[in-house]
Amino acid sequence: MSDAVAKPRNDARNVDIAIVGGGLVGASLACSLAPLIERHGLRVAVVEAAPMLDAASAPWQPSFDARSSAIAQGSAQRFRDMGLWPAMAEQAAPISRIHVSERGRLGVTRLLAEELGQQALGYVVPNAWMGRVLHRRLAELPLAWHCPANVDCIEPEAEGYRLTLSDGSEFQAGLTVLADGGRSGLKERLGIGSDEVPYDQVALIANVEMSQPHEGTAYERFTREGPIALLPLPGQQMALIWTHAAGREGARLALSDGDFLTELQRAFGDRAGRFRRVGSRHAYPLALVTAREAIRPGLAVLGNAAHSLHPVAGQGFNLALRGVTDLVAALELALGSGESAGSMLTLRDFEARRIVDRHNVVRFSDGLIRLFGIDNGLLSHARAAGLVGLNLVGPLRRGLARRAMGLER
Ligand SMILES: Cc1cc2nc3c(=O)[nH]c(=O)nc-3n(C[C@H](O)[C@H](O)[C@H](O)COP(=O)(O)OP(=O)(O)OC[C@H]3O[C@@H](n4cnc5c(N)ncnc54)[C@H](O)[C@@H]3O)c2cc1C
Repeated sequence: MSDAVAKPRNDARNVDIAIVGGGLVGASLACSLAPLIERHGLRVAVVEAAPMLDAASAPWQPSFDARSSAIAQGSAQRFRDMGLWPAMAEQAAPISRIHVSERGRLGVTRLLAEELGQQALGYVVPNAWMGRVLHRRLAELPLAWHCPANVDCIEPEAEGYRLTLSDGSEFQAGLTVLADGGRSGLKERLGIGSDEVPYDQVALIANVEMSQPHEGTAYERFTREGPIALLPLPGQQMALIWTHAAGREGARLALSDGDFLTELQRAFGDRAGRFRRVGSRHAYPLALVTAREAIRPGLAVLGNAAHSLHPVAGQGFNLALRGVTDLVAALELALGSGESAGSMLTLRDFEARRIVDRHNVVRFSDGLIRLFGIDNGLLSHARAAGLVGLNLVGPLRRGLARRAMGLER
């Protein structure tokens, strides 16, 4: 694999597919389109607002404060299909067991990869590394890469949309895929509304170093303040996602490293060992945001632009990647039968493949938060029983594990 970053390959005025956003989801879609570009001569443009770091001048380093994602087995398989897994796996840590517990309650649930006949329940990959692998692949593809450039304006036309970029260029696309993370205002300007349920919670994330090997264990601990997740990273490092009631994260962000580690140890306990070191801390406000429309003629909405979930169940990117797979499958079928990429026939097929999975995952991760977020005596016992019950009742626990692995929709 070359060290080059993606560069423009053509400056077509008209493209079949324009992807707005070259983040995790937009870049995954562009890479997944490679076989269709080759087979059907599909013209694809990707527009990404943030400048890419030049690999030569800023070599990738396993930075101590980067965000990491839990990648389900199903997602690893999707990266395998794209030919990208060997490179992703260079910095991926396998999850061999998941340990779920609740502070002050007896119940503990362990999900073991070996019980399910799997080598790993999933993997944890630093987002910066996933980005690096995806963008290196993009650089090899014959597509138009506009970066850094912002899509400033998007207007419907008879056949698709006209996109105007911040560098003054414009082009027309038969299908425009909004993969802009949902924060650019483009969705709103198109009149696509969203349903937003704020959780009044903020995720504080950081990488931490432990005193003992994690042996591939991912921890999910539900506390009165909110869930704490610890995901294994290579070596003795783990990715921390510590959920706080909104407004309470500021004090923790301001603590010295030593005081932060003491408070974290107190909240999490010592089942994973001692917390030795912490990298820089970042805060993400949490809300459940779902777009009311996923498709329009010539338009599809993907990734965080379509659904932004609570990170507790590690489902957001995994769900989005299944959306990428389904969109590519719908496009393949359409192009093979002479249908256009942006026709409603193509997009209805895509939406029909998505609707149940999206609904189930949104309900699953939101339900988990609500179940563990309510401080009520009766419910607490039910939760403890539920966790113990999950331990006792094999099929139920296996069902949860299969969903967590992305093997079940
Ligand atoms: C704390 C936290 C932990 C998480 N952990 C997990 C996990 O373990 N597993 C999991 O599956 N998911 C996880 N998620 C969810 C996951 O991070 C998201 O699903 C994923 O990042 C969504 O990617 P995206 O490409 O849709 O959006 P983004 O990552 O927001 O990317 C959007 C891109 O579009 C670009 N852009 C924006 N506007 C424009 C414009 N107008 N023109 C051009 N480009 C534009 C941006 O620069 C950006 O690069 C987590 C989320 C959080 C907050």
